[in-house]
Amino acid sequence: MKILDGKQTSAALKEEIKAEVLKIKSAGGKIPHLAVILVGHDGGSETYVASKVKACEYVGFKSSLIRYEDNVSESELLAKIEELNSDDDLDGFIVQLPLPKHIDEQKVIEAIDYRKDVDGFHPINAGRLMLGLPAFVPATPMGIMTLLERYQVPTDGKHCVVIGRSHIVGRPMSVLMSNKANPGNATVTLCHSHTPNLKEITLQADIIIAALGKPEFLKGDMVKDGVTIIDVGVTRLPSDKTKSGWKLYGDVAFDEVSPKASYITPVPGGVGPMTIVSLLQNTLLSAKNEIY
Ligand code: NAP
Repeated sequence: MKILDGKQTSAALKEEIKAEVLKIKSAGGKIPHLAVILVGHDGGSETYVASKVKACEYVGFKSSLIRYEDNVSESELLAKIEELNSDDDLDGFIVQLPLPKHIDEQKVIEAIDYRKDVDGFHPINAGRLMLGLPAFVPATPMGIMTLLERYQVPTDGKHCVVIGRSHIVGRPMSVLMSNKANPGNATVTLCHSHTPNLKEITLQADIIIAALGKPEFLKGDMVKDGVTIIDVGVTRLPSDKTKSGWKLYGDVAFDEVSPKASYITPVPGGVGPMTIVSLLQNTLLSAKNEIY
């Protein structure tokens, strides 16, 4: 069993990005610039945004954090997006989700210029991804593909079962794994909460991507020997065994599943760190005009 170490891989990638930024700087080029819009004070969003800003600083990007209180109006937010769309210094920006209920998330996503949509959530990027055209790929699926690539995990001709069909993880993951590419070229089954007899399906899988958000859902008796496991889930539950009083759980019962696996991502330290570094990669791609 080999651990797919997202912490180590993302650290190596950050060094590569940092070196590239230094090269741009010494050639007198423009420093990549990412902006993040954060609405309200949701604990999870605050943590994610802080890590994104910190990662930008580490690799030498310029970053801007634009904050609004929970009661910001949809029109004020849309006006800001319009302003960022035409800001030539910005290579990309993201609006941290979720947004308060009175704001239409889809409207906000679609207001972002797809050429600056480094989260890859705009329908143009989603559509281009679907067609196998150059596009900004959502950070979590992109991070998973990078991890598979760096560890040279075989995917060609394999049966890949994706559990979860969200627009940010499961569905783009199913598209990427079925694309004519390496990694890719897998035969994909996309499962969700209406899938009957899930265990019969997971038992046939060479690769399982668990992205459903149910702690330790995938048990040892649901996988075959030699399987590759990508555990996307992160659920924070109270624990009396940790100093913080919390413990993070993936969607996979690691202790049961890992002895049967060829490759497996841990939680934490697997997919999570790859997500942030992928956002940096997208910003760099945008700065270098490599997608559009
Ligand atoms: P989501 O939008 O809630 O989607 C969950 C998906 O799982 C849905 O498609 C749902 O089916 C399916 N599902 C739920 N229960 C199921 C069951 N019992 N059997 C089969 N399918 C089931 O979640 P998400 O945003 O994709 O995130 C999934 C997990 O990944 C969460 O734990 C989240 O925190 C984590 N995550 C981690 C990262 C990272 O960087 N590590 C990034 C993003 C998300 P229906 O469509 O039928 O409802």
